[in-house]
Amino acid sequence: MVDIEGIILDLDGTIYRGNTPLTFAGEFVNKVKQKGIRILFLTNNSQRTTLYYSRKLKKMGIDASEDEILTSAKATALYIKEHYENPWVFPIGEDGLLTELIKHNIHVTFDWRMSSMLVVGYDTNITYKKLKDAALLLENGGIFIACNPDKSLPTEEGNIPGNGAQLAFLKEATGREPYIIGKPHMPIVKEALSILNTTTEKTLIVGDRYETDILTGFRAGMKTALVLTGATKKNDIHNRRRPDFTVQNLEELWKRLSK
Ligand SMILES: [Mg+2]
Repeated sequence: MVDIEGIILDLDGTIYRGNTPLTFAGEFVNKVKQKGIRILFLTNNSQRTTLYYSRKLKKMGIDASEDEILTSAKATALYIKEHYENPWVFPIGEDGLLTELIKHNIHVTFDWRMSSMLVVGYDTNITYKKLKDAALLLENGGIFIACNPDKSLPTEEGNIPGNGAQLAFLKEATGREPYIIGKPHMPIVKEALSILNTTTEKTLIVGDRYETDILTGFRAGMKTALVLTGATKKNDIHNRRRPDFTVQNLEELWKRLSK
């Protein structure tokens, strides 16, 4: 068995695609846990709650408690708790972000004049008013934190604007740069390692997107596994630094890990 104590598992393109589990996903999770290796499911998505993901995974027959799920929204709330004393947060975001802020006893207000910090997550109900108020908060010295930098999201309709596009609007309007929590930035990794209670050397990150999952692993000094079930194809990594494992699916990864 490869010497690891924890695995960070990406969700979309790694564990499932849409509502369909990918090959061996449930078995992989069970077998890893049986070996005493801890698992953390990690997503840059801040829109949904950990409860949503836990239920979604359970419906697919994949055993996952809320404590085993880290969204960029939860990582953001944990980060704020650790680094700031009683900020009043003006949020742009949906259920996933609001739930985590409230769960972590962070003050939330929709009046920018009352707030000291702007937190931006993906928000499909974004309006000019919200963006305007956010920009005014930034102009007035508000702290600027973003859940994740993803510029677009792949959907059946095509690529649609993601949180990165909302951030671009605010950056353009104010000249301010956000502090970003999600992959490929390090704050989410720190939170993940702290939850897993592992060191970088003894942690494996598994994902389907080279630019985020694998680069995050390289930057943090973790072991890396690229599964070719999602965004990145084998030809895309030609001439690039190789992950420790490049595999067709989680079944092949399990075989390689358990050797
Ligand atoms: Mg993915």
